Amino acid sequence: MYRINIEGAAHINEYEELVKIFLRPDDFEMTEEKGPEVACFTEQEDKNLTKQELFRFLEKETGVHPKWGIITGIRPVKLFGMLAAEGAKKACEKFENYYLVSREKTELTRNIYEYQQELFGDGESNSAGIYIGIPFCPTRCLYCSFASNPMDEGKIEKYLEALYKEIDYCGEAMEKMDWHAESIYIGGGTPTTLTPEQLDGLLSRMEEKLISGRGNLCREITVEAGRPDTVTPEKMRVIKYHGIRRISINPQSMKQETLNAIGRDHSPEDVKAAFEIARSEGIEEINADIIAGLPGEELKDFAFTLDEVIGLGADNVTVHSLAVKRSSRLKEKDPDYHYKRGRAVGEMLDHAADVLGDQGYRPYYLYRQKHMSGALENIGYCKNDAAGLYNVRIMDEHQRIIAIGAGGISKAYSPETRTLTRVPNVTNEEIYVERIDEMIERKEKDLFRRK
Ligand code: SF4
Repeated sequence: MYRINIEGAAHINEYEELVKIFLRPDDFEMTEEKGPEVACFTEQEDKNLTKQELFRFLEKETGVHPKWGIITGIRPVKLFGMLAAEGAKKACEKFENYYLVSREKTELTRNIYEYQQELFGDGESNSAGIYIGIPFCPTRCLYCSFASNPMDEGKIEKYLEALYKEIDYCGEAMEKMDWHAESIYIGGGTPTTLTPEQLDGLLSRMEEKLISGRGNLCREITVEAGRPDTVTPEKMRVIKYHGIRRISINPQSMKQETLNAIGRDHSPEDVKAAFEIARSEGIEEINADIIAGLPGEELKDFAFTLDEVIGLGADNVTVHSLAVKRSSRLKEKDPDYHYKRGRAVGEMLDHAADVLGDQGYRPYYLYRQKHMSGALENIGYCKNDAAGLYNVRIMDEHQRIIAIGAGGISKAYSPETRTLTRVPNVTNEEIYVERIDEMIERKEKDLFRRK
């Protein structure tokens, strides 16, 4: 058990996140006491200097060398972009010498930042990213921490009614503010759990209220078709009919044993069939999410999944490091899971970078979350510049997000201070339906009143 004291620290939890990268929560305590058994540090005016000391101490004690250094609580590409105002070389130096980020991750961040600038530049100040949440899935995955509920026709109909009310309100409010949607992401849950008719209704409403009424400036729409067993020719035809080019089919693993173990009620063959259906109905861009560090998987299993997904011709491959979040069933089963898998996940991510690079994919966005195996990262790769704009903007955090539906977290953006303020909807879909007027009032007060 390590006992750590930071003298003069008003917010000790700022340091706790860093300590947790090295030590399991049961293996340390932050204490106000001092003494021979306690590792003592003094908070300096620049807290990052204190973090550097703490980081070096923990590296020595544990033999662990986290590649992202002392960066916690800020997105690396965003941070790099802020530092790059003084030039990319200076930003790299600061990453390595001040934030103690490894050379490899520094270079990765720089490449991604420069690629994003080349592809998309900065968003216009009156633009928005729009998220529409459909919180229903065929079954619940073991690691799920999202708004996701089993399919229930009665509930879905009521949910859509409330959702349309929020869409209509947002369309009118955007018009008043003179904002337009730059990109729209329909996620969840799994939006393709909707029937073709429901999907058509949703996409028509979205077009009418959020796109055509706002000058048709939307550059990208993505529909998540995460569960391959929800992909049918009819639904793909509806998506295509509405001019949508991009979907996401998420195998996570191409091993049947793993899919069974994580509670996904489909087979690797379903994934292949879903790709075939989507392509034959003319869907142009398909993203595939896969996860490194799933229960029971070693490097060879992950490598197999990666090869399969590349073989299917995915235009984007998003490689996630398994994050074990508080609300997941996996966290209940094994609270220390992500501590145990750090090294294996690191190898999987390195393998993915090599193989995808050889196959012509480039990393185009990156983000980190709490509780990730090995404190590593998620990376989206794309081929032929087929990058997802919504993903880039949401991680960059320099654009407002209007999130509609249960579990959606809108973000008001202040260009003056370059800060975001969260405006959340409730997560539970029944409560969302009951309290839809309150969700709208929240938006009115905290999202659409801000300039
Ligand atoms: S498909 Fe996604 S949202 Fe649905 S249960 Fe699995 S992790 Fe959760």
